[in-house]
Amino acid sequence: MKKNCRRSLIICSAFIFLISCSTSKEKTSWYKVYTDQGLMVVNSDSASIKVNLRYSTTDNFISKDVYGDLEEAYLQPEALSKLYKAAEYLNELHPELQLLIWDAARPRRIQQVLWDQVEIPLPERAQYVANPETGSIHNYGAAVDLTLADSLGNPLDMGTDYDDFNEVAHIDKEQELIENKLLTELQVKNRIILRSVMTKAGFIPVRTEWWHFDAFSRTETKSRFKIVE
Ligand SMILES: [Zn+2]
Repeated sequence: MKKNCRRSLIICSAFIFLISCSTSKEKTSWYKVYTDQGLMVVNSDSASIKVNLRYSTTDNFISKDVYGDLEEAYLQPEALSKLYKAAEYLNELHPELQLLIWDAARPRRIQQVLWDQVEIPLPERAQYVANPETGSIHNYGAAVDLTLADSLGNPLDMGTDYDDFNEVAHIDKEQELIENKLLTELQVKNRIILRSVMTKAGFIPVRTEWWHFDAFSRTETKSRFKIVE
């Protein structure tokens, strides 16, 4: 090997080493927060699951990036197994679609930020954003917010965006919303595909948010897991 060539190789290796060091360093704080409590990262390398944490962007209801360098989704291992099952069911039914994760485990300190920022009067606020005092099921790593996306990663039309606090995001009056022309048949069909694979995998939907699913009931979650602070 020529001298110059060897020198470039050494410089190049050192550069790669530095990049990998800084990447693992950035990950460390979040990785430790979650894995110290037994949570696991969602594998988004498969064709059926993609992750775009909306709170790690400014494209969310408070228009602020509250997660910083967190780009990966974490869940309790059993919740993660259910998510992988849901991805399998989706792959069987609609191989052209994928699950697009918007949020999963969320530390209580971030819950506090969301709670403080949301502009909904106090009595109704808890219907849309869980009070950090009692904790959201997300804070235990047992809830996931997600939608369906096509093979290119474009989200399907579900009638509303993420964190829409209007009645049109509710799942219990969808037929009525179609009749009143607030939702289309196709939007509801897309929601039903998402709900069917998630509930078949053992997730529990919530009435007011078509994108939110709990892996366990609130009682079971609280009895089995600790809040991620
Ligand atoms: Zn949620």
